[in-house]
Amino acid sequence: MDVVNRYITINNHINIAPQDSDFELKASPLSLSLDPASNVVIVKNLYVSIDPYQLNRMKSFSASQKTSDFAVAIVPGEAIDTYGVGKVVASTNPEFDKGDIVVGLLNWGEFTVIKAGGMLNKLNPMGFPLSYHVGILGFSGLTAYAGLFEICKPKKGEKVFVSAALGSVGNLVGQFAKLSGCYVVGCAGSKEKVALLKEKLGFDDAFNYREETDLNSTLKRYFPNGIDIYFDNVGGEMQEVAVSNMNINGRIAVCGVISEYLDSEKRAAPSMIEVIYKRIKIQGFLAGDYLNIFGDFLSTTCDRLRTGKIQPLEDISDGVESIPSAFISLYRGQNIGKKIVKIAEE
Ligand code: NAP
Repeated sequence: MDVVNRYITINNHINIAPQDSDFELKASPLSLSLDPASNVVIVKNLYVSIDPYQLNRMKSFSASQKTSDFAVAIVPGEAIDTYGVGKVVASTNPEFDKGDIVVGLLNWGEFTVIKAGGMLNKLNPMGFPLSYHVGILGFSGLTAYAGLFEICKPKKGEKVFVSAALGSVGNLVGQFAKLSGCYVVGCAGSKEKVALLKEKLGFDDAFNYREETDLNSTLKRYFPNGIDIYFDNVGGEMQEVAVSNMNINGRIAVCGVISEYLDSEKRAAPSMIEVIYKRIKIQGFLAGDYLNIFGDFLSTTCDRLRTGKIQPLEDISDGVESIPSAFISLYRGQNIGKKIVKIAEE
């Protein structure tokens, strides 16, 4: 049987803010009748992840492209891989059967053909919606968990600051830190987001960074006794002022620097004198380095979801054609929580 596979490609490298015209929806026939010797799996994609780091892969050059198999350059005109959940519709790989629900590296498209050795695992949804396994129970959740607990090691009563706090990773960092007994302040780009952080997610306080004219004074206002932990999702000026407001022995997990992704000239230049004399630890990390704690992360997070101690925050668009606008929305601050595209019904 043949199907038509519609998928998204980029028309060109994207070195500035992404726009609709940078993307194209392509369609090509795909045969579901497999050669028995082929050892491949064809997955019907159900939910695919939309993440800021893809922009660095779309650039003509980014220092990130040579550092990890997940960050390699995206070639204009070719399919774009991403984390996602799907259903096996054909398989000659003995490890997978038709009908299996799977999670792994799929495409921004309707189907993915995965050769032996590709990143794909059977998924037990454990009673949760499949979309959770793309976000809160997938890499976004692992990123928040690993960055906070493995790098920042929060202690009860410590003061935690999170940027892009209503995003996919940031909202979980704040919720996890609250459960560890920390005082948590987040920043985000609108009044509505600030209200959600305080009223829905239980942050102690939050502010709209776009309304502030002097971010250093802003942090002094929210942290009169200094910051112990900064979970950095944005880089740039916010990172510089966070360093200036850190306490002695503070920890900074550099998760992402989204404010620098659109402008390769823009670099945070935090005061290294402060870093030295305050003995601040600043560590970049990749969630993929923490697969060893995935089991621990999953059981803890599932428990907290079941007992209502953590709120899932998802922002789901529909259909493969909505992928470009979903991706662009991240750079316009239009997403509330984990941005996902639902490609098809199970
Ligand atoms: P997200 O926060 O859900 O979405 C991006 C958010 O960033 C937007 O909603 C927007 O919120 C904010 N933003 C966009 N442009 C900005 C700018 N110029 N300055 C400040 N904020 C801006 O995305 P996410 O998936 O959770 O990712 C958050 C960060 O973590 C990103 O930097 C990403 O690259 C990184 N990350 C790293 C890893 C890792 O393994 N190290 C894994 C996942 C993600 P506002 O309304 O607040 O502006």
